[in-house]
Amino acid sequence: MRIDIITVQPELIQSPLSHSIVKRAIDKGLAEIIIHNLRDYATDKYKSVDDYAFGGGAGMVMKIEPVYKAIENLKQERDYDEIIYTSPDGTLFNQNTANELSTYQNLIILCGHYKGVDHRIREHLITREISIGNYVLSGGELAAAVISDAIIRLIPGVISDETSALTDSFQDNLLAPPVYTRPETFKGWRVPEILRSGNFEKIEKWRFEQSLERTKNLRPELLDEDPDE
Ligand code: SAH
Repeated sequence: MRIDIITVQPELIQSPLSHSIVKRAIDKGLAEIIIHNLRDYATDKYKSVDDYAFGGGAGMVMKIEPVYKAIENLKQERDYDEIIYTSPDGTLFNQNTANELSTYQNLIILCGHYKGVDHRIREHLITREISIGNYVLSGGELAAAVISDAIIRLIPGVISDETSALTDSFQDNLLAPPVYTRPETFKGWRVPEILRSGNFEKIEKWRFEQSLERTKNLRPELLDEDPDE
């Protein structure tokens, strides 16, 4: 999978995508993330990427020309499955969306900044708008990092234990069961006996029951959702 990220703040996104599982995916050649500095596509001599809003009001707006040029340049080189704009008014990101996007080959993520991008870009070039939550960030960079991380870890082969990603929370609309490691007892706090029984059938059953219980208690609405939607 290849993800092209277009941003006015490349530094903001480099670090979250240079470590841990995402880094491993890149090292293994399973994912490629190319970060584009929007300033490189600026069309005027001042290299400007923002301008005052028509109609007045506080805050700058990302200019249409550099964004258009960046996206069109990329589209000439390959077909993109989705051109995503990060936006607080987009569709809320969830595990189902991550699963879907992880099956694609080429994605563009455009990070908004300032008051956002000139709306004509959203009307004519963007194919999907994603919000990572009902709050406002300073820019789309952290949202792009969240989206990229969530989808890259799902690409087959990225996580060495193939089943690991499938047993995370939200797969099948269930929260993950509790996990423990050594020591067996700490300050008198004990690991559930069953996990040390060696009876894998019983352990699986216990984990499933815990998942169900935690979901019922913490996120009951997940149980009403269709996992394939
Ligand atoms: N004026 C806009 C917010 C601008 S915030 C509004 O009220 O909708 C600047 C940029 O940060 C946005 O363009 C968007 O790309 C990004 N952003 C902010 N909050 C976000 C969120 N919850 N999810 C995804 N992107 C977000």
